[in-house]
Amino acid sequence: MKQQQPPPLPQTQPPSLSQATTGGGGGGAAAAEGSVVAHAISSLNGNNNNNNNNNNNNAETAKCRPPLYPKPKTPSFDKDRDYIGFATLPEQVHRKSVKRGFEFTLMVVGESGLGKSTLINSLFLGDLYKNRQMPNVEDRIEKTTRVEKKTMDIEERGVRLRLTVVDTPGFGDAINCEDSWRVCTQYIDEQFRQYFTDESGLNRRNIQDNRVHCCLYFVPPWGHSLRQMDLDLIRRLHRKVNIVLVIGKADCLNKTEVRKLKERILQDLEDNHIQLYQFPECDSDEDDDFKQQDRELKASIPFAVVGSNTILEVAGKKVRGRQYPWGVVNVEDAEHSDFIKLRTFLISTHMQDLKDTTQDVHYENFRAQCISQISQHALRERGKLKRDSISSTNGFDAAISETDRLLLQKDEEIRRMQDMLTQMQEKLKQTHLMEMKKNDSVIDV
Ligand code: GDP
Repeated sequence: MKQQQPPPLPQTQPPSLSQATTGGGGGGAAAAEGSVVAHAISSLNGNNNNNNNNNNNNAETAKCRPPLYPKPKTPSFDKDRDYIGFATLPEQVHRKSVKRGFEFTLMVVGESGLGKSTLINSLFLGDLYKNRQMPNVEDRIEKTTRVEKKTMDIEERGVRLRLTVVDTPGFGDAINCEDSWRVCTQYIDEQFRQYFTDESGLNRRNIQDNRVHCCLYFVPPWGHSLRQMDLDLIRRLHRKVNIVLVIGKADCLNKTEVRKLKERILQDLEDNHIQLYQFPECDSDEDDDFKQQDRELKASIPFAVVGSNTILEVAGKKVRGRQYPWGVVNVEDAEHSDFIKLRTFLISTHMQDLKDTTQDVHYENFRAQCISQISQHALRERGKLKRDSISSTNGFDAAISETDRLLLQKDEEIRRMQDMLTQMQEKLKQTHLMEMKKNDSVIDV
């Protein structure tokens, strides 16, 4: 199996956590850091003397300074004069990520009693469902699906993970469970919308990522394949979230039944053009063990799991298992269940890819839809404004032409009156001339 080994780093003291499950080692790590820092400062000062006093003084000085980043292994310049230093970039990224911590949100969907909470507790070695209240039969008739969010901070070898489990109690419990999927799609969309709003805001540095990175959908072991309600939900969710199918309580089935159920489920998905989370192709330069593990993980889908939070002793070994009259089901035995494969996939090998797919595929789809809706809305608004301005311009033109028409009418009237006046003046002139001529003739006589 491929070892997922982080680059070697000086140990740093992890910041204290509210519910960190592991503590210990902090003081030692701090001391280690102190000596690394002291050594780095000593080297920076060009002091190669390994004198204890000097080291102590330098360590004192180091306390007052911000911690130094890991000092790259400086090669001997005699050996390699072409060394630039960017080979430490992965270390820088690693250190920054470790400091920041990781966030992962897992949605768990399936009807109650399928072993969801037991499995989550077995996966993350916690007890996320301490105060759970079981609904009675009457409650279930009208029961609506709710969303319940539980967060726990876990730490392993200095790496902090903020795990959020989104449960959907009541899913598929009511007699009419047609709308169970709606609660899930609304929740997923809501988280995307919140992230989109935060990302478009002013303070983008401390955005909390609550987007759902993976949805574990529990299929009951007692059906022949997927039911209509399973298909309804998966069809509506598969373009929004990475869906991973899990056959719960797989100890109810024998090996042949598990194989047949898996085949029929995969066939149903294909017939309905549903695409669940796609495992990325394994890089060709990976070692054979890793490639083999990758093949096995892919071949196990949907994972047939058995969960248990009980530790039993089998042949002198403590195992997580279920005790039956005829024997023990060892949850972590690959012959009994796909539990270990699911845990490897979800936590050790594909957690980051699930996050990347959420960011690059599902969130991008949502973002593209949002942007297209916003631009369509803006276009509609602009069109409306344009229409309004055109109609107001048209009104203005109409008003102008009406005034012009009135003015023209008045002009015409004035012109007519002036004509009449001219005619009258002409007549008066004529009359006056005729009278003058008359008077002249009278005088002549
Ligand atoms: P949830 O309602 O889906 O969260 O189911 P629970 O985890 O509360 O489990 C319901 C019951 O099934 C409990 O009595 C569990 O002990 C039992 N159970 C859980 N996982 C398994 C399993 O893998 N196989 C069997 N046979 N029983 C299980």
